[in-house]
Amino acid sequence: MRLRITVLPGDGIGPEVTTQAVQVLRTVADVCGYNFEFTTRLIGGAAVEDSGHPLPKKTLDTCLESDAVLLGAVGGPQFDGLAPHLRPEAGLLAIRQALGCYANLRPAIAHESIADCSPLRPEVRRGADVLIVRELLGGLYFGEPRALDEEHRSAYNTMRYSEHEIERIARVAFEAARERKKKVTSVDKANVLETSRFWRTVVTRVAKDYPDVKLEHALVDSFAMQLITTPTRYDVVVTENLFGDILSDEAAVISGSLGLLSSASIGGPVGLYEPVHGSAPDIAGKGIANPLGAIASAAMLLRYSAKLIGEADGIEAAIRNTLDAGYRTADLATSEATKKRANTTEQVGARVAETVSDMLNRRMAYHAV
Ligand code: NAD
Repeated sequence: MRLRITVLPGDGIGPEVTTQAVQVLRTVADVCGYNFEFTTRLIGGAAVEDSGHPLPKKTLDTCLESDAVLLGAVGGPQFDGLAPHLRPEAGLLAIRQALGCYANLRPAIAHESIADCSPLRPEVRRGADVLIVRELLGGLYFGEPRALDEEHRSAYNTMRYSEHEIERIARVAFEAARERKKKVTSVDKANVLETSRFWRTVVTRVAKDYPDVKLEHALVDSFAMQLITTPTRYDVVVTENLFGDILSDEAAVISGSLGLLSSASIGGPVGLYEPVHGSAPDIAGKGIANPLGAIASAAMLLRYSAKLIGEADGIEAAIRNTLDAGYRTADLATSEATKKRANTTEQVGARVAETVSDMLNRRMAYHAV
């Protein structure tokens, strides 16, 4: 197994958390005898400082030639004064578009051992494990025409979806559900919007190809409430771009810390994997960032770009095990006392890597018998 991975550490805590994610991937490769090749390139503010552009051609070319991209985060206050096209975030949007990723996958998992970190009551979130599948390249964010008409004091955007765009994202959701609890909830606003009624028709048709997966439809307004009042009801949630943007942030409440959240953007020739958090300039360089979101993104990389399901499961189990063993970075501390005892980025990353190594070694020994 050969896998070419481009690593884009970016800015702030990006390099700190990607270092740990790469360490875990190297551990998987060592134990399983795989050949993972890592190439590191600049993006965001680090690239602006180096070459004046947030997504240098060399970075883009390397990404396009690789099997998957692992990104940290971009941005920082020192870049806020730059022209919009030179800001670090412009590099991030450009890479997402260049890779043609139309499906954004964001899991929200309620780890039992950090129940005290979530504002939800323990009995409400216990066992919740939701995967939001958001359409990423269509809908209101890209629809034409769009305008801000200062002269007439009005503005408009266009929500438009083609059958092809709906069908391909629906298939991503059904395929993902097949590997999980076999349930898809399609979220729309079909009682008001034509795009939503069409969305519902197409998703219902696609569902016929997946008779083993249960499909239900939900209206976005009531769903937004049910997602946090009864999160355990849901498995895979598929929705259009704007609804997905809002609902995936809402689902993050289930987990308990921004530092835990991972994401995958897939559908194009090269998948892009990144933690949900930003560059966290307030804690950058202190060695206290939570690396678990980046490490969980590395697990998604193995799952979706390399189809190494057992290895991805192994990393996710090691993350659970690390939290269960009481390892916590400062963002998971719930009192001043626990904050003082908090683990460093490196300690948490090393513990996950050791656990993955143990688990995969045991699994290989078992299969060798
Ligand atoms: P942020 O996610 O960087 O930080 C929000 C808060 O969460 C901060 O208090 C931070 O310390 C904390 N936090 C974030 N990740 C953490 C982690 N792994 N461990 C522990 N604590 C963590 O969001 P922000 O402060 O709004 O933005 C900072 C910069 O990041 C801005 O320049 C913004 O544009 C950029 N940003 C980038 C991305 C991205 O690269 N995908 C996403 C969001 C924001």
